[in-house]
Amino acid sequence: MSGTTSSTTSAPATEAEGRDLVAAEIADAGARLDAHHAPETNGRMAICRRCGSRTDTPVGLHHVPDVRQVARSSEWLDAQVRASRIGHARGSLGT
Ligand SMILES: [Zn+2]
Repeated sequence: MSGTTSSTTSAPATEAEGRDLVAAEIADAGARLDAHHAPETNGRMAICRRCGSRTDTPVGLHHVPDVRQVARSSEWLDAQVRASRIGHARGSLGT
């Protein structure tokens, strides 16, 4: 009897934990994108033209990536950082 009740109560708890984790990942990815560049929207859609992430409003003050965009936006940021590092390396080599 007690076994069935404990299994039903634990299910929603893990679901909520997963949601919190996703929310934290979205906030973290959004903050990283904000730090890299200000959102560039067309003023009509809440989407950044630069990285393709969703923004909070069509004006675009902050990045708010979709759940499915979190992994992609972090990959995009890593690629940007790598590209700038290569640029710096080339610059130092040239001088
Ligand atoms: Zn962006």
